[in-house]
Amino acid sequence: MRPYASLKSLLERFFPLHRTLASDGMDETLRILGEAMPPGSHFTIETYAPGTPVWTWRVPERYVVHEAYLETEEGRRILDFKENPLHIVSYSLPVDRVLTWEELQPHLYYSEKRPNAVPWVFKFYERDWGFCLSKALFDQLPRHQRYRAVIRSEFITDPAQGMAVATAIVHPQGGPAPQAGEFLILAHTCHPRQANDDASGVVTAVELAHRLSENPLPPGSMSVRFWFGAETIGSIAYLAHHEDLIPKLKGGLFLEMTGNRNRLAWHHTRQHTHLLDEVARHVFSTLGDHEERPFAAAPANDERVVNGPGVNVPCLSLNRWPYDEYHTDDDNPDIIHEEMLQQAADVAEKIVRIYASDYLPQRKFRGPVFLSGHGLWVDWRENWALNRALEKIMFQFEGKHSVFQIAQAVGLDYWMVREYVEKFRAKGLIEALPIPSEAPLD
Ligand SMILES: [Zn+2]
Repeated sequence: MRPYASLKSLLERFFPLHRTLASDGMDETLRILGEAMPPGSHFTIETYAPGTPVWTWRVPERYVVHEAYLETEEGRRILDFKENPLHIVSYSLPVDRVLTWEELQPHLYYSEKRPNAVPWVFKFYERDWGFCLSKALFDQLPRHQRYRAVIRSEFITDPAQGMAVATAIVHPQGGPAPQAGEFLILAHTCHPRQANDDASGVVTAVELAHRLSENPLPPGSMSVRFWFGAETIGSIAYLAHHEDLIPKLKGGLFLEMTGNRNRLAWHHTRQHTHLLDEVARHVFSTLGDHEERPFAAAPANDERVVNGPGVNVPCLSLNRWPYDEYHTDDDNPDIIHEEMLQQAADVAEKIVRIYASDYLPQRKFRGPVFLSGHGLWVDWRENWALNRALEKIMFQFEGKHSVFQIAQAVGLDYWMVREYVEKFRAKGLIEALPIPSEAPLD
């Protein structure tokens, strides 16, 4: 049983909120996710005080908007933040001024490409103020009159009201296996009132957490850590506060834009030819229509942090980019489809199940193993393909190839080969070396 009727219904609960880097809408979103994540997944919210240096960045202030609107000098309301948080440029400075059209116009933003939609514009660090509206409305506004621009915003630096991020962790059967490390799933939650970018990736991640809780990874697998927060600055702040975690992270997957009707795409890790790329390519090869892109191709996100300089955890990205409604208020639940969200979870699950349960078999024997003497012979009448591959499998237990790579080399299913290799492990003939960390040494 899930604590939600559908992924789309979960998305609709936090979609309309004023989610931004640090805001009440972000906190409320994380609270809702805490209720939606599986019980026992250790859901935890951390906050970082505004101004705290995190690597080369600093934690932003909490952004509070008490009210914001644009009206004519006579008081006719043209747009109101209350109706749509996209109507103001994110992190707009406070303003209360009467302006001529010439003075106002540089502060108005619209989309040429999508004239009936309100675009999302953010100026987190440049600090300015502005309103966003449809091109259609912009064109209608009389040029000869004066306007009143009101944004009552506050930038809160109180350390107790910091920027929040949330994590959860799902362990394999039998509990954590520290030597195997962890796999990191990320989805950002900082796009106000937008559904596909970014709420869809969030609910796909929640679904994945439930699947891995209900049907845990085999004993000895990686634990799977889930992370939710603001794009870039959120993952930087989190990793800067948990540098000890970096060498334990063996791989990552960033999820976004999973709900629109378009084919699924995956972006390489920064390593491009890592085991994680091989696993992703294999899983996608069974999917039919899909797209493969280089590391950090548009739309690039937190994989630039996780797989970036000084961290270097191989990190994939999954999305259904491009789509026309991107970064406008047309990106709403109308374009979200349950089966798209679920299919993205299917693909993510397959990748995680293989990669997080994989290891490098290291031989502890000399000479070819006396298979029948150890009960390791596979009768060709029971499994002809595996029988043909026994020698080839056994000769690759040199700690250099993972079970997945051995399965690929002999052209057999990963799970079948893994089950067979596990028998060698159970008899003490091999040792399971963990997938190595790619973290830099300094
Ligand atoms: Zn975005």
